[in-house]
Amino acid sequence: MSDRPISSDEALQIVLSAARRLPPVTVSLHQALGRILAEDITAPDPLPPYPASIKDGYAVVASDGPGDYPVVTESRAGNDGLGVVVTPGTVAYITTGGPVPDGADAVVQVEDTKLLLDSSNKLRQVRILKGTSPGVDIRPMGSDIAKGDIVLKSGDRLGPPEIGLLATVGVITVKVYPIPTIAVLSTGDELVEPTVGCLARGQIRDSNRAMILAAATEQQCRVVDLGIACDDEQEIEKTLDSAFSSGINILLTSGGVSMGDRDFVKPLLEKKGRLYFQKVHMKPGKPLVFAEILPRSADNTSNTILAFGLPGNPVSCLVCFHLFVVPAIRHLSGWTHPHLPRVQARLKQSIKPDPLRPEFHRSIITWQSNDGSGLPGFVAESTGQQGSSRLLSIKSANALLEVPASSCTVPAGASVAAIIISDISSLSSYRSQPSAQSYHSESGYRPLEVNACDPQPSGFKVAILTVSDTVAAGKGPDRSGPRAVSVVNSSSERLGGARVVATAVVPDDVQSIRDILRRWCDIDNMDLVLTLGGTGFTPRDNTPEATKALIQKETPGLLHVMMQESLKVTPFAMLSRSAAGIRGSTLVCQ
Ligand code: AMP
Ligand code: MG
Repeated sequence: MSDRPISSDEALQIVLSAARRLPPVTVSLHQALGRILAEDITAPDPLPPYPASIKDGYAVVASDGPGDYPVVTESRAGNDGLGVVVTPGTVAYITTGGPVPDGADAVVQVEDTKLLLDSSNKLRQVRILKGTSPGVDIRPMGSDIAKGDIVLKSGDRLGPPEIGLLATVGVITVKVYPIPTIAVLSTGDELVEPTVGCLARGQIRDSNRAMILAAATEQQCRVVDLGIACDDEQEIEKTLDSAFSSGINILLTSGGVSMGDRDFVKPLLEKKGRLYFQKVHMKPGKPLVFAEILPRSADNTSNTILAFGLPGNPVSCLVCFHLFVVPAIRHLSGWTHPHLPRVQARLKQSIKPDPLRPEFHRSIITWQSNDGSGLPGFVAESTGQQGSSRLLSIKSANALLEVPASSCTVPAGASVAAIIISDISSLSSYRSQPSAQSYHSESGYRPLEVNACDPQPSGFKVAILTVSDTVAAGKGPDRSGPRAVSVVNSSSERLGGARVVATAVVPDDVQSIRDILRRWCDIDNMDLVLTLGGTGFTPRDNTPEATKALIQKETPGLLHVMMQESLKVTPFAMLSRSAAGIRGSTLVCQ
């Protein structure tokens, strides 16, 4: 295929035409929030199911007119007035939502009546002060929803009102499109875990993985953390192969898509599937690669995977995520209009466009009573210097301004199209909220955490801890962690819906291991924590000691089974110092 850069519009169109909706699944009402409906919903009965009062007052025969009337019954919401009929010359007390008794044809609100009490202060009569006419203050049967009405259509997004509608028509399980599962891999020899305190020359911390995992989680997706792969063709290929067979829908890599002699992502995606494009005429984000990985099993039962080779520069990486991956996620999840919304905004300050490439200029837009034109509207403030490596240029940005390539400055006050990339109203609350990843252990160590998207993940919550000085120091790749994630997630159905919802890497010191285990057991209430490594005999092999200090009840039977299985693989298993046990409601196994 040609390596000619294509326009961002063309690239998005290609992505959307390769993306296919995932097959619908049935979920319960409380799991349906934010999903797209995959069936029409019909009302089985009318609402209200009976003529209902709109006011607290008296059900009357309208033609009786004002006067004093005996109160023959009461009809309260939830009680049908015990079947008493209101005949001319009588009235019934009624509350809002109460069924209008047979015979009555209007309701007079309590404010237009006066109670007439007898000597024992018991209500006998009421004085109706105002005349009324038939139908006043009554909701006829079926006036809100008629029996057989289609209340929700396939393609509707289920927000709170739609969930209310489902409840009102008695639908407790619905067919919806599932949310995709996304695996995220960072590539680059220079990358080390964010946990590394002291960087060696040539190293940088991996920001893209934490950022893209967070961005995918924000889109409600399930996420799988594939870790960091060095710029080594075989290592990347192995990681990709394992990801492709783990039931994911989207693969996101970052880095390794430029023109360097060790940029292997593009050729590997081309080898594994169908490469659609490899360059987009835009700034930032030019070296974006997109491929489709076709079903692997001969019977075509596995799914097609959309693979994006995102650029390594962090801003380019996130901009490409918003512009191409978010619409793809929405399309897979059943959205009818997967595109990001656009508004017009006036520039607060002038912008110098790129002379050659259309730019997506990061900005913060706010609604102002005077946008500079004398009328209310959105005003866009640039986030400053727009370098594609400068993450601060996308911090707090809620819009990408579409600035066409030009050698002429766009003046302040000009109206430009702004693509909305976050909830406009969330800006101030985002700033004040503590970071979801703000955990620091006493040793100053900060494990990377990954939360799965489902607000209420069904099945068991699994956390995986890699204990290794080498990996934690960024001196070597984490080979076992991503493998364990993929084993658990790919066996999810067999394991009662178990999903990895958090991973971390810590060095071999007791305090760090204990801190993260305590948090996963006591705060995050994981169902299962699996630890990998640190069970040998060197002075730094501390995992069993840290685990034993923490567990409240040992599970010796499990250790026995684990030993039996491990001995089938290697006789050295007999030297294992494994520990396993329960803390609170969490099973910790190593
Ligand atoms: P590449 O696309 O691999 O040539 O990377 C382009 C630039 O992005 C280089 O300066 C990399 O160091 C940087 N980079 C790549 N991956 C990451 C990452 N995961 N986090 C932070 N920077 C990265
Ligand atoms: Mg690189």
